[in-house]
Amino acid sequence: MSDRGVASRPSPIAGLGLFAARDFTPGERISPYTGTETSSQPKEASAHGKVYTLEVAPGRWLDGSSGSNPARHANHACHPNAELIWHEEETVAWLTAQQPITAGEEITFDYGFSLAESLFHPCTCGAADCIGRIIADPLRPALRRHLRFSRPRD
Ligand SMILES: [Zn+2]
Repeated sequence: MSDRGVASRPSPIAGLGLFAARDFTPGERISPYTGTETSSQPKEASAHGKVYTLEVAPGRWLDGSSGSNPARHANHACHPNAELIWHEEETVAWLTAQQPITAGEEITFDYGFSLAESLFHPCTCGAADCIGRIIADPLRPALRRHLRFSRPRD
């Protein structure tokens, strides 16, 4: 339980979320993101909104849907407090604190979705400036331009 440092419970963002069971300092490892390596992103993910297969490093996809992956319930947020860092030497990705996290806080990270993927995945993180789609941070300006020009004029 708390010896793992994290707990899963219903989240205000979506479904079950991953929550800190103790405080974490920036740079501290929170939980491994474990799974089976696949060569591409399966399409099933978009059907029910749940996303467990992530590109943990360029060209390296992990299917983290297994019940033994403690980090699988971590939600995406526009202003995440953690990041997923791939450790090549250990062949494991670690959810790592990006800022101080206090016990009870929900742990979120940037799923890093492409523009195309973002169209199928609404973001419900609740931030005042939530862009409304799950999309990699560096791609958000492009999505904002796209949304601005595709919005009906009034
Ligand atoms: Zn958001």
